Amino acid sequence: MRAFRYHRPADVAEAVTLLGAGTEAAYLAGGTNLVDLMKLGVQRPDVLVDVNRLPLGGVEALPEGGLRVGATVRNSDLAAHPVVRRDYPVLARALLAAASGQLRNMATTGGNLLQRTRCVYFQDTGKACNKREPGTGCAARHGQNRDLAILDWSEQCVATHPSDLAVALVALDAVVEVTGVDGPHEVPMVELHRSPGDHPERDTVLPAGSLITAVRIPPLAAARRSSYLKVRDRASFAFAAGSVAAVLDLDAGVVRDVRLAYGAVAHRPWRALRAEAELRGRPFTPELAGVAADAELASARPLRHNAFKVPLVRAITVRVLTELAEAAA
Ligand code: SF4
Repeated sequence: MRAFRYHRPADVAEAVTLLGAGTEAAYLAGGTNLVDLMKLGVQRPDVLVDVNRLPLGGVEALPEGGLRVGATVRNSDLAAHPVVRRDYPVLARALLAAASGQLRNMATTGGNLLQRTRCVYFQDTGKACNKREPGTGCAARHGQNRDLAILDWSEQCVATHPSDLAVALVALDAVVEVTGVDGPHEVPMVELHRSPGDHPERDTVLPAGSLITAVRIPPLAAARRSSYLKVRDRASFAFAAGSVAAVLDLDAGVVRDVRLAYGAVAHRPWRALRAEAELRGRPFTPELAGVAADAELASARPLRHNAFKVPLVRAITVRVLTELAEAAA
């Protein structure tokens, strides 16, 4: 591992300034992804700015409703928060579907959103990878790509984003609060992560040096009827083969509102707007849920080893929406 300088700033402004002191500086929060990447030589920061002692560890109810979650709130604490469990079950379930209990005790809200892809070639410094080293190629495009994207990939990168939390937050229309060298600003969750295009080395739209300080979750009464369903190769401690976050609001059996987002299908958490449009205003049936999923997945371009993801995501869409509709009956 490369030697690095370690800083523990007193406030957010000092953290942002300190990050600018390194050529490859990185923020350290839970470290559950960064430290692994440092051991593998995938990330080689010369400066680490430890944000764990910053006052970003609170969950606060907002006057207009909703929650403001500090960036260093641990995933396990957020999943257990009584308001999250009551008002946003999709969020609690997504958090509990991720990683192991030990990792959730360390992983933070901000860090979870910024974790890197688990594409095996990204983690192997001996393999071509445009995300790790721009211009070297993409070993996964014609290599082992079972776990990778079916939507919105480019010839430069077919990776998926691994976060479960991000998928739930996209469905909930959350907003990310950020501080950078130009001061504070906000980014809607649905715009935070990028499509790979010609620059897969950039996972998000955040300018270099930006620090996520909080995530705001708006009030959404319908979210009390929400869920997250994740399919993976083993029952615990695995990344998704496919996942769906869903909010369903029915009025006498007719879909008044619906929010859907998919995980493990693209370079970013995938808001399923076409599927939502198919569902809204129509009497809910499992068949309609299938039609909606088909509309969303019509643009899927499976790779050599992952065509199974199309029927998989369709099936979990139907299942999670049907379960929510039955619970409402
Ligand atoms: Fe790298 Fe992306 Fe290709 Fe994986 S899919 S090898 S992360 S460029």
